[in-house]
Amino acid sequence: MRRSRRRGFALPDDCLFCKLYREGDHVATTDGFVAIRDINPQAPVHLLVLPERHVDSFREIGEFPPEEAKRMLEFVADVAAREGLTDYRVAVNVGPTAGQTVFHLHWHIKGGWV
Ligand code: AMP
Ligand code: ZN
Repeated sequence: MRRSRRRGFALPDDCLFCKLYREGDHVATTDGFVAIRDINPQAPVHLLVLPERHVDSFREIGEFPPEEAKRMLEFVADVAAREGLTDYRVAVNVGPTAGQTVFHLHWHIKGGWV
């Protein structure tokens, strides 16, 4: 585990999404959050919103300060709007049997159907 120099929270060394937060190909960024394109899209537009703060899953949402949780949700909506999506689906898979494969909280944004 390292510590985020700026924020002080733990960053696992081996987490794919911690790595993509630092050095991924970001389609949008804001303070503490980035959006990337899903490598295996399940819709015409399939984006992922990743918080810098590492928690394993949505179960740990309580570890986000309220202001940060609000900004995360606003960023999900902003990213969708910037991609030109008016109708879209936001999903979070929680746990392996629900389809979670990367254990760093992330928000799926899927849309672009006509
Ligand atoms: P989940 O299955 O909900 O944990 O979502 C993980 C998502 O990450 C899946 O939709 C994968 O296609 C996607 N994914 C895995 N590796 C990468 C990567 N290197 N870049 C972008 N998306 C990825
Ligand atoms: Zn992580």
